[in-house]
Amino acid sequence: MGIMYRSDCQHIESQHAGEVCVHLFDGKAEEFYRCFTGENKQYNLICPKCKTYLEKFQLSMKKVCLDCFDKIDSNGDFFNFIGEPSYDYSPDLYHFNYQEITVPALQHQYIMAMQPLLYTSGSQWIIFDGLGNLQLLDLSCNTIVLINQVSNDLIDKAGDIHIIVSNESDYVAIISRSRLMKDTKDWNKGVVLDLISGEITMLLSRGDYHTAVSEFPIAFFRDEERTLIIHATNWNRLDISDPATGIVISEREFNTRPTEAWRFNQNTMTEFSGRLSVSPNQQWLIDDGWQWGPVGCLSLFSISRWLNDNVWEADNGPSKSKLVMKNYFWGAPSCCLDGDTLCVWGQGTDEKNIIPAAVLFDINTREQIDWFPGPSRGLFVYDQLLYTTDENDNLSAWDLSNGNRVVLEKGFSPQLYHATSRQFLSYQGKGVFTLGQIEF
Ligand SMILES: [Zn+2]
Ligand SMILES: [Zn+2]
Repeated sequence: MGIMYRSDCQHIESQHAGEVCVHLFDGKAEEFYRCFTGENKQYNLICPKCKTYLEKFQLSMKKVCLDCFDKIDSNGDFFNFIGEPSYDYSPDLYHFNYQEITVPALQHQYIMAMQPLLYTSGSQWIIFDGLGNLQLLDLSCNTIVLINQVSNDLIDKAGDIHIIVSNESDYVAIISRSRLMKDTKDWNKGVVLDLISGEITMLLSRGDYHTAVSEFPIAFFRDEERTLIIHATNWNRLDISDPATGIVISEREFNTRPTEAWRFNQNTMTEFSGRLSVSPNQQWLIDDGWQWGPVGCLSLFSISRWLNDNVWEADNGPSKSKLVMKNYFWGAPSCCLDGDTLCVWGQGTDEKNIIPAAVLFDINTREQIDWFPGPSRGLFVYDQLLYTTDENDNLSAWDLSNGNRVVLEKGFSPQLYHATSRQFLSYQGKGVFTLGQIEF
């Protein structure tokens, strides 16, 4: 225990939590700015009037304890950040090895989407090209095998193409999202293929209502011995299906739903689903959706409750709640560190005030645990360290125990990470790939 202070708020603390301007302190202002002190992520709170005097006069500030600081910080009306946070950089802790591979068979093909195949530690990847070919690329032995060809009437290649591969590498989904927002009549469509047989097993459609503004909600998960798929079947509806047959196993009749299962009451918070992800323990579905305002809304609920106890869980179940809401902002990357911790990009409350950061949440309590300034919006993957890419084509790695940047690889900007081979992949075009691997 250090020295005890008596703050201006008259509460005793072992250290001062921060400073707030006299107007916020006296409750004469509610709107405030977070003004970085230059020391890591520490900031003081000042009101708009004080902001106009910031460069001209010494502001009248009060030292307050953690509780009083948090009260003003969370109950007031946050406008924006002023200045920049800082973080420590400990270079040369890790070393990267690079390998460049040219695949002659891909020199004249346009790769529309690519994802790692995780069931082996080899460098295997699934590729969807501009001719509709779904292929298995093995960069360890430079081979490429055709899985199937998907016709244009099933996947419109004028849209944004994404592919999603199940963790067990038994299924792949290919999605095409409309780039147009014409009278809200855009569309999202897709197919699911069995990766062993190459057969198309399921067709996907999310309808045509405001589908261009969020990613197609789709995720595979493991239920004991089987792979299942969660996917949007309408603008406001998610379902679970068996990807082997396409049979819906979360069948429910919306006209006869019980009153507690209605959407849009206090707990649901998501009207339009977005990018889905499943926690590593297969327990939680994380939905990066939005609702009218518009307000971005990252929500989550229990997959096992939905599958085993309550068919309405995805709509308004007791396990469903919001984690983050941001005005006019959604679709930023996030990743799970483990079954209990979610890491979300961006600190702030509104499109206009979000700064680069990694924000950690406890999935069980739904509380923010901590945040670290610095990580850019780009690649955002966690494997002991958080790896991010930035607009200057650099790869960084961050130690989330203290927020320090521990890697800065200039000029290497991978698009993908293979979690079993632990390779970062950067595609240069014309069949040329760069693989990067960290040496611990
Ligand atoms: Zn003030
Ligand atoms: Zn206090």
